[in-house]
Amino acid sequence: MSKIWANSGDSHLVEPDDLFTTSLPADLAARMPRSVKDEDGSHETLYVDGQEFRRRMPKAANLTDDEGRTVSERAPGANDKALRLVDLDGEGIWAELVYPSIGVWMSSITDPDLLAAGCRAINDWAIEYQRFSPRYVCTATIPLLTAEHAVAEVTRAAELGFHAGYFSVTPGLGVRDWNDDMWEPVWAAMADAGMVVSFHIGTEAHDAASFHGGYFRGPGGALINYVETTYGGQRAVTKMIAAGVFDRHPSLKAIVSEGGATWGPFIADRLDEAYRQHASAVRPPLPKLPSEYLYENVYASFQHDRSAVKAMTSMGWNNVCWGSDYPHIEGTFGHTQKTLHELFDDVEPAAARRITVGAFAELFPHVPPAPANED
Ligand code: MN
Repeated sequence: MSKIWANSGDSHLVEPDDLFTTSLPADLAARMPRSVKDEDGSHETLYVDGQEFRRRMPKAANLTDDEGRTVSERAPGANDKALRLVDLDGEGIWAELVYPSIGVWMSSITDPDLLAAGCRAINDWAIEYQRFSPRYVCTATIPLLTAEHAVAEVTRAAELGFHAGYFSVTPGLGVRDWNDDMWEPVWAAMADAGMVVSFHIGTEAHDAASFHGGYFRGPGGALINYVETTYGGQRAVTKMIAAGVFDRHPSLKAIVSEGGATWGPFIADRLDEAYRQHASAVRPPLPKLPSEYLYENVYASFQHDRSAVKAMTSMGWNNVCWGSDYPHIEGTFGHTQKTLHELFDDVEPAAARRITVGAFAELFPHVPPAPANED
């Protein structure tokens, strides 16, 4: 079987257990996210700043698979900068957009200064990965409770060398949404820094009172909830487009990771219909069709979805990226080449190369080019 090389628009770091205790004063570290698993591995309790979240073994910080193997047993490089490159070489993955794992729970913190301190700690750790290899494009975790804290960390992250900022699909708890003018300085700072707004699905901010380990229970719950997690990313970029963010910042790019891709042309059509049929109610006015912002400024990363390829080849959305979700259970580790061949063997080579390599390279032009596919 020939080897297909691909960049990944969706990968994760797995933070060490002592990340916060070694980087923050003890009283602050104690309030940072921490996971305690049940002995049977079926559930975990997440502790975040005095709140407790109880759930079935999770998505964002999935540490064991159905056979009870830990991430480091399944994916030896998950916690090791050098071994990770060995894993990537074996899988045929070149460069990665790398999100946090336990860090996504920071969005449940409601104290802006505490959140900012936690983000600085995680970013100071994550940048060491990126400095180890240009194949790691790490996301800086941005504190999203106030625009002032967010701009300060975007500015600091850009100086550290980050090319992407991790944004939860909703802002911090109790804060106005992405279409609100309060975020304008943050979009401006991201655009000035040339950093990509990186949304990962399933990262809505939760408080303990409203969190039930999922949205739906009863028959079909697991499948229903898996689909439900995808909508947040679509809503986030819809809000940015509708609020004119990409009109004011034409160079700004956003990516939605792990949420498939065919939703892009769908949302574009819905936005355009509203723009035409409800033109008198559209505020702020947009000089271009909403679909143009989506097709130009928004990217998406998928891992297994067969329809996602068609979003580019049949629907013309050139910003579709592939992603491995390494090292998470939903991802392709161990079967990346099989997945890539199933997805792309029947696809015209230039289109396949665009999805596997080109769209990512356009977002992150500083990354050395991916190798040619091997016969
Ligand atoms: Mn992911």
